Amino acid sequence: MKKQVYIIGSGFSSLSASCYLAKAGYNVTVLEKNDTLGGRARQYKKEGFTFDLGPSWYWMPDVFERFFADFGKKPSDYYTLDKLSPGYEVYFGDNSSVKIASKLDEIYDLFEKEEKGSAKHLKTFLDSAKANYDTAIKDLVYKPGISPLELVNTTTISRVTQFFSTIRKQVRKNIKSSKLIQILEFPVLFLGAKPDNTPAFYNFMNYADFGLGTWHPRGGMYKVVEGMVALAETLGVQFKTNATVSKILINADKNVNGLLLNGEKIEADLVLSGADYHHTETLLDENVRQYSEKYWEKKTFAPSSLLFYVGFDKKIKNASHHTLFFDTDFDAHAEEIYDNPKWPTDPLFYANFTSMTDSTSAPEGKEAGFFLIPLAPGIEDTEALREQYFEKIMDRFEKLTQQEVRSSVLFKRSFCVNDFKEEYNSYKGNAYGMANTLLQTAFLRPNIKSSNVGNLYFTGQLTVPGPGVPPALISGKLASELIIKKQS
Ligand SMILES: Cc1cc2nc3c(=O)[nH]c(=O)nc-3n(C[C@H](O)[C@H](O)[C@H](O)COP(=O)(O)OP(=O)(O)OC[C@H]3O[C@@H](n4cnc5c(N)ncnc54)[C@H](O)[C@@H]3O)c2cc1C
Repeated sequence: MKKQVYIIGSGFSSLSASCYLAKAGYNVTVLEKNDTLGGRARQYKKEGFTFDLGPSWYWMPDVFERFFADFGKKPSDYYTLDKLSPGYEVYFGDNSSVKIASKLDEIYDLFEKEEKGSAKHLKTFLDSAKANYDTAIKDLVYKPGISPLELVNTTTISRVTQFFSTIRKQVRKNIKSSKLIQILEFPVLFLGAKPDNTPAFYNFMNYADFGLGTWHPRGGMYKVVEGMVALAETLGVQFKTNATVSKILINADKNVNGLLLNGEKIEADLVLSGADYHHTETLLDENVRQYSEKYWEKKTFAPSSLLFYVGFDKKIKNASHHTLFFDTDFDAHAEEIYDNPKWPTDPLFYANFTSMTDSTSAPEGKEAGFFLIPLAPGIEDTEALREQYFEKIMDRFEKLTQQEVRSSVLFKRSFCVNDFKEEYNSYKGNAYGMANTLLQTAFLRPNIKSSNVGNLYFTGQLTVPGPGVPPALISGKLASELIIKKQS
């Protein structure tokens, strides 16, 4: 008889795992507490506007290709990708902005114009970033994080010093322009930590940025969710929404034997949780949890965020599909996220206008805007604070892009720390999991397999390899491969 696996949550990691496990012959049911699938990548529609609630940057297209290829498919079987040109735009403190081109030659020109001689340094830096990307993809990120030995081979040994230096040191060694430094330090923010706390090896994110480019699935990131769900369904996966797991049940031998689903007991041979790791452990009795509250407290979490989804009654000028507002002091903001958690005095922020390149996301002549301010996880969250920060970033947005927009707001929806906790059971309301610092990389992250409970596995952004959509796809593959190996 086929074994029954229940997967908790329907984020990218769970969707990925569901496909691999169904292909391997398991009966797979995905249980999602919310009323739609996709986890943090859900969609919000209002008055003809469509917003992705979470991820918007489609990077590392090779990882998506590799996922679909494992099932004899291609991304283009499910969605159409456009390479964004420019990839994104960055505003700086002197009211200027630069557009990051989709072609490397143009990026070298931009660097050279900004700082004489920097194009040569950028080339050397990107050569190392590409070598690290190849190593990461070939030798590191597709490893389950069970043993340190997974990481040891001649290529990784030759790069070991890069784990003990930081992105910040590496970038600043040869580049002096503060604008270029900000551009080169930006990609590691996706890993959830500060550039001075992120190993230099992670410069492979700069290759992902400049070398591989920024892509957009027509119709939004949710098209990827829909594609993966469609694939999973053809493989036989069942999906249940409004399905909250409130307890993982174990037998006397400490093996999983069931779940409490919407208050009712159901039997299970195996459970894989793609819900936040900390939350999943709270579904177990305390004596079989692997990690104490103290453990979680000490970890570096990726930021939470204050988000606004705004329908504008006109087209927005002087901005791009992805626009970063780096016009304030990054170090001061980072300190207020990581070292001295509080509402930031002058936050950096990000604005997204998908409708500038994708007419499906807003009615004709209107713009869908999504604004994101990174925040310390766990801080106080009130309507008044949200409103105060909306005004703060609108002041800057209007000044820098030289236009009035507030009178054109048709509606706005906010999302912040309390929503992350309530909607996703997120630890301290983190937006994208546990950061990739040196001590939170590979086997040093929470385990994919429970060491205390048999037949209980974990996937997602708090385990290996880390935060982000591509890592989530990889995490689902790693967890399911381990399940298949252990069960055979
Ligand atoms: C605002 C924002 C912007 C981002 N931007 C980007 C980006 O541009 N590019 C990028 O690559 N990544 C981005 N990320 C990160 C990326 O979205 C995540 O790393 C990834 O989607 C996480 O997937 P996951 O499977 O680990 O978890 P999740 O998506 O969090 O899925 C977990 C699921 O478990 C469900 N769940 C929780 N508890 C229970 C329970 N008890 N019972 C049943 N279900 C439960 C939750 O409802 C949720 O659906 C962003 C994230 C956010 C929040």
